[in-house]
Order: sequence, then C-alpha cells, then structure tokens
Amino acid sequence: MESKEIEIVRFYNQEAYFNYVEKSIQERLVFEKFLAKKNINNKKFEFLGFCQVCAEATSFIIDWQYSGGNVPNYRERLVCEKCNLNNRQRFLLNLINHFIKKMNEKVTIYLYEQITDFYLVFSKYFNKNKIIGSEYLGFDILPGTMINNIRHEDATQLSFDNESLDIIISQDVYEHVPDYIKSFEETFRVLKINGKLVFSIPFYSKEFNTKQRAKLSDNKIEYLLPEQYHGNPVSEKGSLVFWDFSWDILDLLKKIGFKESYILGYYSSFYGYLGNGLQLIFVAEK
Ligand SMILES: [Zn+2]
Repeated sequence: MESKEIEIVRFYNQEAYFNYVEKSIQERLVFEKFLAKKNINNKKFEFLGFCQVCAEATSFIIDWQYSGGNVPNYRERLVCEKCNLNNRQRFLLNLINHFIKKMNEKVTIYLYEQITDFYLVFSKYFNKNKIIGSEYLGFDILPGTMINNIRHEDATQLSFDNESLDIIISQDVYEHVPDYIKSFEETFRVLKINGKLVFSIPFYSKEFNTKQRAKLSDNKIEYLLPEQYHGNPVSEKGSLVFWDFSWDILDLLKKIGFKESYILGYYSSFYGYLGNGLQLIFVAEK
C-alpha cells in the first residue's frame, strides 16, 4: 500500500470528502473521458500497468460492460489479464493483504460470498489463513448449514461465535438486507477486538441520509421507490435493493460500537485503479 504510485485518502465526513473532490479529481476525469473517447470504436482495449495482486506488469482489459456507452465502467472492468480480477477486486485483495501483514499471525476472514470467482482467487491467495465464505440460500435454513458444500449465512443472524473473526468482507451486500442495522450489529458481535469490517456499497455521496427504497413487513415487500435489482449468482431475478446508502452510516457504525469508521478513497493510474476520479471502499474497526 505504501507506494508513491497510489493516492489513498481517509474520509471521516462529507465535508472533507467534497473538499478533496473539488481540488483533486478534475484532471483524472478529463483523462478518463479522453481514454474512453480514443477507444470508443474498440470493443475492448488494453491499459498497461502493474497488478498489485500478481506483483507483475500486466495488461488491464477494458470493455464496455456495465457502462452507459460513453465512458467504460472502470470500477467493474480493468480486468488483469493474469489474475482475472477487476479494478475494485484487485484493490480489495491488496488492502486485505496490507491489513493482514499488520496483524502478523494466521487470521480468520469471512466473506459474504462463496460461489464467485473472486472467492476462489481470494482463498487461494490467502491459503495460509482460515477463509470462510457463504451465500444466502433462503429464510428457512439454519445459519451455518452446508448445502452441497455451500455454506448458508444470514447477515442478520450469523452463526459465528462472539469475537471469532479477524476480518469481514462484504461486496455490495448490505443494500439488499432489509434490516441492515442488524447486520452491522452482527459484524460487530463476531469480530475480535481490533477486527475489521471492509465493505463496498453503492454510495450516494451528495446525500447525507440513507434512503429506504423498499421495506419488508410480514414477509411482504412494500416499494417506497421504483424497484431496483442487482445481479446475484444464486438468483436469476437478482437481488432487490432496499437501501441507498449515504454518510449517516459512518455515524451508525460508531454508534454500534466500532472505534473507527471511514471511507478509503484511492486512485492510481499505474495500478489500474481508475474510475470517477476516485474509488471508494468502507472500513470499520472494532
Ligand atoms: Zn493480476
């Protein structure tokens, strides 16, 4: 992580974030648009750089998947031709590597995903540690149950003992959990002291208060805003979005008991971490 080739900033509040954004991202956005314009007629193209996961120079492949067509979705693309991980996955793995080095012993890491390619690469990369993955398989299954080698967990009632995990990783899960506050409380319960929750969520930086899109009452879904779904490896229809998250979740995490909660902003052309002039990931420390 400590490298001159990457910019990493911690944000504890909205004001600091907008001060930074106003000053620092304009040139990056111009560059990202230029790169897109130059390649608008290419189905896919290469961006040369250095992969922190492979620890090698590589080609990051960019195409137009998940984009509006004018600018690629740099966050979800920039796929390393060697390890096959995209931009945000490579950064996440590297961040965890950095955290583990500081912990200096064999650690237990839990991810709310198990049948993904990321989980495979991740568990191989950290094979000296205990890696646990799970999927949500249904409301009528006991948390911790294995079905065809897939572990079921419910984010609002994890089967883990108190203070048993060092790191919890969640990639775009909490916006789908009707009672996300309960799931944050659960992460706090099962993390060891000094343990870390590292997560990504769709984030509405211009708002302050988290907005509810749908709610669950008596097992019935009530839509407060137009329905929105995200891809889900265990469901064809995808997962319904219940929440549009904003800055108030940092306060919520502190209220639950985490000693620190912040957003890490990061950017590096060299390591292939482009997109929106700044990429974001969330960290809470117990
Ligand atoms: Zn790689």
